[in-house]
Amino acid sequence: MSGRETIAAVATPPGVGAVGIVRVSGPAVPDIALHLLGRLPAPRQALLADFRADDAEPIDQGLALYFPAPHSFTGEHVLELQGHGGPVVLDRLLARVLALGARAARPGEFSERAFLEGKLDLTRAEAIADLIASGTEQQARLAVRSLRGAFADRVERLLEALTRLRVLVEATLDFPDEDLDPNLAAGVAADLDQLLADLDRLLATAKRGERLRDGLLVVIAGAPNAGKSSLLNALSESDRAIVTPVPGTTRDLLHADVQIDGLPLRVVDTAGLRLSPDPIEQEGVRRAREQIDQADLLLWVVDDADPDAAVAPPADLPAQVPRLVVRNKIDLSGRAPGDFPPTQPDRRATAAAAIACSATTGAGLDDLRAALLRHAGLGADAGGELSARRRHLDALARTREHLSAAARAHSQASPPELVAEDLRLAQDSLGEITGAVSSDDLLGRIFSEFCIGK
Ligand code: GDP
Repeated sequence: MSGRETIAAVATPPGVGAVGIVRVSGPAVPDIALHLLGRLPAPRQALLADFRADDAEPIDQGLALYFPAPHSFTGEHVLELQGHGGPVVLDRLLARVLALGARAARPGEFSERAFLEGKLDLTRAEAIADLIASGTEQQARLAVRSLRGAFADRVERLLEALTRLRVLVEATLDFPDEDLDPNLAAGVAADLDQLLADLDRLLATAKRGERLRDGLLVVIAGAPNAGKSSLLNALSESDRAIVTPVPGTTRDLLHADVQIDGLPLRVVDTAGLRLSPDPIEQEGVRRAREQIDQADLLLWVVDDADPDAAVAPPADLPAQVPRLVVRNKIDLSGRAPGDFPPTQPDRRATAAAAIACSATTGAGLDDLRAALLRHAGLGADAGGELSARRRHLDALARTREHLSAAARAHSQASPPELVAEDLRLAQDSLGEITGAVSSDDLLGRIFSEFCIGK
């Protein structure tokens, strides 16, 4: 760390507040403290001091805290200056620290240094950013769990098991002429099975965590007048969410951010999926289809009181997007609210699950909410356990592919070199999650999303 520059930033949000904090990290900290405060504060003890300009005139008076390396957040020498929270005074204080030899920190640079100094793994660093950005209590709870290592610990345990297995397989490479001990081969197969099962459990947990963090993209589609907008309003109002209609053109898409038991939903109301010669409407249809392609769930809304309504979504919608049929207006059709299993005899039965409800009376809307939670893997008994990101899911999915390839190679009695290579690839993918394996590019992407001073 000795070759590193010393960095500084205002760590409190811009604007006026009771307290404002300037954070400094790096080898020049003791020297900066001497010039700024007249002395180095005792480690980890608050010192009330004048923060002096170069002519010794005080810029402010406040508390100084010194955390000598390696016992600090970044692992470097850290100085925290708690002054008064006004923009001018903080600007002057930061300028003084920069003049004394620090440079302005980039967003997330303190956390990046903490990672590089081995103070934090990547899941913990990301959890800090997630905690700060939490929009729901549930998101904050999960972020704290990841921050305390809930995610990293599970990844570490898998990595250890993977390492043991690699050692076992690679040991057989050293004795190519001997026949493979059948007990050993069976042991490898059992270990691979166990690893795959553990990985699948972590993947399921991480998927729930990712959904609670990023939410679900739910697209509402259906014939005009089926009640799509009413449903969107009913879902958002009852949860007292902020509805933010963003109509670009009259036939553009409407978005609303809705929360159900802490699960954020981005609900998009499409402009009615019918073919039209009107170029503006065609543009609306094109955008609707684009949203549907990316959706986590398609809600196909049907006017249950209209005997001619198409109950099945159009066949040309992307097959990979799961769908839920919503039979709306049951106050008119007289159907009972709630789950409407496709097994139930019905002349217009469809393969998709259906919920019967009324946007007007609210009947069946709780069933709809429960169905949305179930769809996110958040049914009544499945709580989220940790916060996770798309990046983690990608890495876990790649790990799974390599492990499956190893299991296949092993079961086909392929040369152990191939099994060993697949295991190495699996270990690398898994290691990306905590940063045991990382690239500058990956780190740049992760930390650039942080705020300044964190
Ligand atoms: P969209 O074109 O699919 O967005 O449909 P709207 O939400 O604009 O609703 C079309 C019409 O149906 C409006 O007059 C609504 O008041 C009415 N509507 C929507 N949902 C219900 C419902 O559950 N029951 C009844 N009786 N009317 C409904």
